[in-house]
Amino acid sequence: MTFRFKTTNTVIFCVFALLAALPSSHADSWKSKRLAMVGEIEADVRDTSRFLGKNKLDNNVLKALKKVQRHEFVPPQLQKSAYQNRPLPIGFGQTISQPYIVAIMTDLLALKQTDRVLEIGTGSGYQAAILGEVVDKVFTIEIIEELGKIAAERLEKLGYRNIRAKIGDGYYGWPGEAPFDSIVVTAAASHIPPPLLKQLKPGGRMIIPVGSRFMVQQLVLLEKTKDDSFKTRQLLPVRFVPLTGGQP
Ligand code: SAH
Repeated sequence: MTFRFKTTNTVIFCVFALLAALPSSHADSWKSKRLAMVGEIEADVRDTSRFLGKNKLDNNVLKALKKVQRHEFVPPQLQKSAYQNRPLPIGFGQTISQPYIVAIMTDLLALKQTDRVLEIGTGSGYQAAILGEVVDKVFTIEIIEELGKIAAERLEKLGYRNIRAKIGDGYYGWPGEAPFDSIVVTAAASHIPPPLLKQLKPGGRMIIPVGSRFMVQQLVLLEKTKDDSFKTRQLLPVRFVPLTGGQP
């Protein structure tokens, strides 16, 4: 009798232990995949240091990459590939950018925690979430209504209270919230949109892929000088989906 009682207790204990362990071991496996991805990004940064002018990401960017759950930002059937260092389709002919690209675009803005940052091209919301880990206030604009709605709901569910998302044509920026310390454009533009330049603070930075949709584009880092002119630096060849919308 005593023996049977003990066995039952042991069985109950084991079932509870198993149930408790299941979700956390799952979370751990995402985490180890995520850390491996960050390792690959760091190696890519070292390999491309001559383009970037640095061979290490800033600590705040590394911390954000280690934390943000990229598997929450991709369609369910692609979750198993979420921590590969490559872009993935997110529907509507759009993609979530390659993590290495998100990392360097964020890093090269040289962000301070108190910065207000504008992103053009919300897409999945992943880049916005990375920015949201690094700075106090993020504004993000998506032109495809359904994508923008899904991303806004996702960011809300994940607890990002410092990110404001809206549907609109990002070519024209967000005049009501300007000026911004930094602007990141995550779709390729044929030229630097003048409204975005106007909404950047003097001393602020913009990172934007520039070039034709049919060819390899150049990732450009722009710095607005105090006298309202700007200087640009071409960083490296990239391939982005095109910036659509109302540019002339
Ligand atoms: N930053 C995204 C990747 C975006 S892909 C992420 O982290 O997942 C580029 C996105 O820019 C697409 O969703 C596309 O619909 C959007 N886009 C293209 N032109 C735009 C415009 N003029 N204004 C706002 N969004 C635009």
